[in-house]
Amino acid sequence: MVSKSLLSDANRRLERARPDARISDEALARLRQPRSSLKVTIPVRMDDGSLAIFPGYRVRYDSTRGPAKGGIRFHPKVDVDETTTLAFWMTFKTAVVDLPFGGGKGGVCVDPKRLSVTELERLSRGYIAAVADAIGPDTDVPAPDVATNELVMGWMADEYAKILRKAVPAVITGKPLALGGIPGRSSATSDGAFHVIRVLGDELTGGVSEPRVAIQGFGNAGAQLAQSLADEGYWVVAVSDSSAAVHDPGGLDVTALRKHKSDTGSLADPPSGSEMDDPEELLTLEVELLVPAALEGAIHKDNAELVRAHSVVEVANGPVTGEADDILDERGVEVIPDILANAGGVTVSWFEWIQNRQGDRWTEDTVSTRLRKRMEKQTEAVRAIAGESDVPLRNAAWILALERLGEAMDATGTESLFGRSRS
Ligand code: NAD
Repeated sequence: MVSKSLLSDANRRLERARPDARISDEALARLRQPRSSLKVTIPVRMDDGSLAIFPGYRVRYDSTRGPAKGGIRFHPKVDVDETTTLAFWMTFKTAVVDLPFGGGKGGVCVDPKRLSVTELERLSRGYIAAVADAIGPDTDVPAPDVATNELVMGWMADEYAKILRKAVPAVITGKPLALGGIPGRSSATSDGAFHVIRVLGDELTGGVSEPRVAIQGFGNAGAQLAQSLADEGYWVVAVSDSSAAVHDPGGLDVTALRKHKSDTGSLADPPSGSEMDDPEELLTLEVELLVPAALEGAIHKDNAELVRAHSVVEVANGPVTGEADDILDERGVEVIPDILANAGGVTVSWFEWIQNRQGDRWTEDTVSTRLRKRMEKQTEAVRAIAGESDVPLRNAAWILALERLGEAMDATGTESLFGRSRS
């Protein structure tokens, strides 16, 4: 989970990009703090008749470019610092893919595994009742995150409708299709990452004809990306989940592994490849692409020296720590930052929000075409900055986001009237 040190890690990337970004000091100063930070308590009647009280949070980090956007996390380590860090990240993610959104995040400090389904429903509804004044289609639009899913979003949308006494589907994204959700949401993150990889092509793979890929995390995002890359002719040589890591230097049968994972719930006893003795070794395999798609902090200062990949694509949020990022930078390993690589998810959330506001139903084709175009265009924009400023792609993504945020902030201010301008 994200901690205070990850907040400073996130700031570290911003500071690294800052010298090359055209952004005023005032805009930068505004970006150092969240706009608003709400702490609530949520009383929940438990199934045994007792009352439990859970702390919850909703942070609106910035909304200059549009309503804040970001998920709601249910986890025992949720606190205001973690929520603020995640909202900060969302601010840059929505800017780098040029969505008309700012950044927000919410969460409840709870172990959801200890709750029954009915307790979980009461908690989800209680959270919305507690933060209802702070959210809305034009102010702050939540979505799923760790341990919150379609079902939870459905309860939350319903609770908001009860409070306002009218249906307001655009208040929250990631809803079930029947309540105004959008087709293609479940593959959006992996599809987005796939488009980024395809556009950057040889820059990431060094131009080899059959690039090798290792993916840590064979869940929703990682397994679907493995399939797309295998279908495209990449050699997926290793994948892992929390139970096992599977390796075959000649290329794994990804379809068989996905079926096995869906049938048995894990990668153990795989039908293709063999289990690695030490799953951590997946991170140090000689491959063209290493894709951490599981947890934060997977690549850290103690293992970054061992990474032998040509490039790292951050599909998880924050899988490379700031210290590790410095080490990889010195060693010439390209890192595609999470704010670009996993932005497909929030992009399709934006489509859901538009669809709900239009009172429309989008088809899966419309979603996938518009996602591909947006990811291609914004990845090209990042590549152009890397070329113009002669900086790595990781910095270029932050520069692009910083400049977009700075431009919007300056447009709302009066600094230029005093003869001051952007540096
Ligand atoms: P998921 O829960 O479906 O999958 C996570 C996978 O990681 C599981 O297969 C799990 O077994 C595996 N895992 C856990 N610990 C591991 C370990 N130590 N080593 C190897 N594998 C391990 O989650 P997801 O939706 O695929 O999300 C994965 C990451 O991508 C998360 O960091 C998430 O925040 C990020 N992300 C996801 C989305 C999305 O839309 N799904 C969007 C943006 C970012």
